[in-house]
Amino acid sequence: MLTCDEYLTPISLADAFAAMAAHRGRYRVIAGATDTLPWAREGRAGDVNIPVLIDVAKIPELNERQIGDRRVRLGAATAIQRFLDDAALARAMPALPRCAVWFADDQIRAQATIGGNIVNASPAADVNPCLIAHEAVVELVSAAGTRSMPLHDFLLGPGKTALQEDELLTAIECDALPGYGGSFEKVGHRRSLVISLACLAFSVRLDVDGRVIENTRIGLAGVCPVPTRLREVETFLRGKTLSADVLEQAADMPLHFVQSRSRQEYRRDILRGFMMRGLITAAKRAGADPPALPQDLEAAYV
Ligand SMILES: Cc1cc2nc3c(=O)[nH]c(=O)nc-3n(C[C@H](O)[C@H](O)[C@H](O)COP(=O)(O)OP(=O)(O)OC[C@H]3O[C@@H](n4cnc5c(N)ncnc54)[C@H](O)[C@@H]3O)c2cc1C
Repeated sequence: MLTCDEYLTPISLADAFAAMAAHRGRYRVIAGATDTLPWAREGRAGDVNIPVLIDVAKIPELNERQIGDRRVRLGAATAIQRFLDDAALARAMPALPRCAVWFADDQIRAQATIGGNIVNASPAADVNPCLIAHEAVVELVSAAGTRSMPLHDFLLGPGKTALQEDELLTAIECDALPGYGGSFEKVGHRRSLVISLACLAFSVRLDVDGRVIENTRIGLAGVCPVPTRLREVETFLRGKTLSADVLEQAADMPLHFVQSRSRQEYRRDILRGFMMRGLITAAKRAGADPPALPQDLEAAYV
């Protein structure tokens, strides 16, 4: 069981940093606590006592939401459920609602935050491949000031980030992708409450006729230590006419990213299948001309 002696809920960054300074070495930051509670349960020495829990979820800066035509800014305490409830956000970040649908269950989704998903830095974290594909930049604030860095530099490895002890992740800023069709594919050991063995986020933009791929954004996670943007595949697809042949070539390209020690062949097989299914689904949502995606192709993968 997780116990604490004090549970603090600062309502400003200044209060949070004061609490962090006052309890240095004795506190842990939480937002939704959906990673912290299972972590404590796995503390095999028995009960886990953290003297001070500092819950940052109510701080206004961590609950910001700005959606422009080109950029999105979201506070770190944004709950995953938000991507299902907020139509403007779903339009700007089209893969995220698909990610949110498969994220945990209703209860966890309402608590779990994007900041917690990022800082926990699990290779299986579902939000990270979506945000990597949006070129997300993280904003880190301490009492001494603010710094920003690309998410792909912030995530150093499984469970490791560039967050300093006295810092909070306050917000992410990323590209808005309105007009793109989105999809998200993941698989785990079971059908519900799945922790991903592999997951992929897709955003696809087509020309007005729904035949030519103008641009794609693809993020991969679960099969490598940190999430990866599939830039090589994106470059290959740019300007190509949608066809089974083009999608099949693209699906073969990222198989070398599978670095997991276990079930490599299985992960390669599902990666290829997910590439096909994710691209087809995102292209359909982007308004693909039906003849460009033959029915037998859809039947095989979607
Ligand atoms: C049943 C269940 C199902 C789940 N399913 C999924 C799933 O489908 N996909 C998935 O990706 N994850 C899943 N998770 C994991 C978890 O819900 C997510 O990783 C979630 O996004 C974590 O957010 P949180 O706010 O709850 O994190 P917390 O537990 O509050 O924090 C996690 C870590 O981040 C740190 N932290 C949090 N916010 C900040 C901040 N602003 N600044 C600095 N440090 C911070 C904390 O100190 C802690 O180390 C699941 C968990 C459970 C229990």
